[in-house]
Amino acid sequence: MLTTLRRIQQDADNSPDIFHVLQSVVKAVRNEINANCCNIFLFDDEKQEYVLFATDGSNPAAVNQLRIPHGKGLISLIAERAEPLNIDDATTHPQFFAHAMDADEPYHGFLGAPLIHRKQTLGVIVTQKTAALPFDAEEEAFLITLCAQLAGTIAQARASGHFSALLRGQVSGKKVENITLKGIPCVSGVVTGQATVIYPQADLSAVPDQIITDIENELVIFEHALHTCRKEIDKFRQRLGQSLPPQELALFDAYLGMLDDNGLGNEIRNLIHLGISAQTALRDVISTHEQHFAIMDDVYLQERSADIRSLGQRLLACLQEQELTTRIYPANTILVGDEISATDLAEVPNDRLVGVVSGKGSINSHIAILARALGIPAVLGVEGLPLAELDKQEVIVDGNTGHIYIAASTQLRQAYLAQQAQEQQSKADLLYLRDLPAETLDGHRISLRVNIGLMINRGSSLRLNAEGVGLFRSEVAFFGRDRFPTEEEQRVIYRQILAAYSPRPVVMRTLDIGGDKTLAYFGIKEDNPALGWRGIRVTLDHPEVFLVQIRAMLRASEGLSNLQIMLPMISMASEIDEAKRLISRAYNELQEAGLTLSFPALGAMIEVPAAVYQARQLAEKVDFLSIGSNDLIQYLLAVDRNNAYVAHLYQSLHPAVLRALHHAVQECKKAGKWISICGEMASNPTAVPLLIAMGFDCLSMHSANLLQVKSLIRDIHMDEAKELLNIALNMDNAADISRFIMERTMQNDTK
Ligand code: PEP
Ligand code: MG
Repeated sequence: MLTTLRRIQQDADNSPDIFHVLQSVVKAVRNEINANCCNIFLFDDEKQEYVLFATDGSNPAAVNQLRIPHGKGLISLIAERAEPLNIDDATTHPQFFAHAMDADEPYHGFLGAPLIHRKQTLGVIVTQKTAALPFDAEEEAFLITLCAQLAGTIAQARASGHFSALLRGQVSGKKVENITLKGIPCVSGVVTGQATVIYPQADLSAVPDQIITDIENELVIFEHALHTCRKEIDKFRQRLGQSLPPQELALFDAYLGMLDDNGLGNEIRNLIHLGISAQTALRDVISTHEQHFAIMDDVYLQERSADIRSLGQRLLACLQEQELTTRIYPANTILVGDEISATDLAEVPNDRLVGVVSGKGSINSHIAILARALGIPAVLGVEGLPLAELDKQEVIVDGNTGHIYIAASTQLRQAYLAQQAQEQQSKADLLYLRDLPAETLDGHRISLRVNIGLMINRGSSLRLNAEGVGLFRSEVAFFGRDRFPTEEEQRVIYRQILAAYSPRPVVMRTLDIGGDKTLAYFGIKEDNPALGWRGIRVTLDHPEVFLVQIRAMLRASEGLSNLQIMLPMISMASEIDEAKRLISRAYNELQEAGLTLSFPALGAMIEVPAAVYQARQLAEKVDFLSIGSNDLIQYLLAVDRNNAYVAHLYQSLHPAVLRALHHAVQECKKAGKWISICGEMASNPTAVPLLIAMGFDCLSMHSANLLQVKSLIRDIHMDEAKELLNIALNMDNAADISRFIMERTMQNDTK
């Protein structure tokens, strides 16, 4: 049975669409289980019916025709009760509902199981036999396992809109409007634009079916890539020529031979002439050759299959490199991909990027933080993104609800354009707050600072009159390179920032890599990176990297006195002691070398539950604390901040989170120190009244939200905020807290 399950999954992975997947499933199930027929019914939400989607053993003409209303018959019963039904004679069951197909086929033995994805029933698989006997326990277990495995694939197809189009009978060729996908709304705002799809680099299996119209241009791109690839292989050959025996070098000659005019190169050219893109042609030619070698009896020849693939990957990398340099981003680019990196974002020229849509990621992924810093609507964690069909399509991104619309109707498009204009106007309406203080109605002043970094900031924070930088993610100096930056390279970057904000304070966080932030030139391979070698742990293990960075920060601050240094991912007091020793050493060395420096204020980030419960002792060792709520929430609630599957469990208003923050603030105050919060929660409108009531001295956020937060603070009395906090701390779930705060703050608006 395991082999059958694996084969079904493989078939599903290789099938062109959901219809073919399910058709091969019913065949395989009927073979595996001793059944006369196997049918798959999928639920049509719109019509509230179960539709026969695939069959093996029943009349194929009934597919898409046979529809069973919700609430009737055994199919509905299985779906409603969300459990399998295994009976010896379906016809005698009180809820049996005879439909057209039952008239031709007198089946009795009946086994059905629900297809459930994330608590939602998508359909039912049914097997039947003529004998009036139940199916055996193993067959039942097989069907349950298969359903659990298959439900994800069906959900993906459903999410991509393909499934609903098929249910409506609108197969390719007919116009389908307003195809809707759903993801996690990560950065608010709505936008319409043109999709530019990013594919994983050098992954042949990720190459989509693409057709092209400009054949001549495609051939030029291909010839160029082929030439580069041949040159690279030749270079390897020469480099290894001294150390490898001639027989080993023969492999490189074989590679070059395969690429010559009579080999793969020509086959690819022929496909391009038919209007197929160079990458798709390469994928298909490599796959044919690979399969050809893989089925040979001779082990030596079988292994050539891997050589072909590796050659294909190399050529693909050259093609993609070539394409990247020639890629044109439209004026209103919406970047779409299964996974989008900071580098992908950085590739898009200034002011062309208007939206981000990604299959992976969640609210506090760094890509979301980046999009937020740029003020660009983003929807991440979108299931079933039909990447191949999306490129160059007009797309609407609704970062408020998490909806993506493809092939939008004129009506929908106009409604969104109007909303877009209104949002821009609301932002402009807040500009009057720019020079006003962030203080409550009864005069409590809160410092509002900005988070910068991850990418060179497009500089609106200064124009918005922020009171300083609450978090500079110094990783920006380390990204997009092939080695660590030198001390001087870092000094130049840090100096620009310190000088731009002077005399306002700038909190520079020391290098925080690990987890989901990796450097191409400093690979960290771990089974569990979130709990692994991250932040301060890495830099204390590499004092040479830490010291270079600290020296660069201190040198950059010469003549200015606004540098503050902050340590990420502190989980032990000893980490602060060790870091302080190194910082003092760097400071003394530079003083001795004749530099005039002020010793920077030092801060520790509270991102780990352990640090919350040691907040007082940690605060005594430094000048300030800053809560990194993005990480703190993930560690408190055990919810990966990047994982879309558990995004609904990542709740910043979870009572445990509120209590932890409240505790940290109180402990920090007992030590007489200053405390800020620099995670995304600082700009969450529902959280803001609670944070100021807790006693945070500073909220640090991306500049896009600064004025909105200021307006919230200027709209509330501290006493009222404290009352809200007291009530919220006694509630037991985030949804109630959120509803309660919204109701109360809306009352303020209408007063
Ligand atoms: C945080 O964890 O809240 C934080 C500010 O750091 P980062 O998002 O860079 O991990
Ligand atoms: Mg963090």
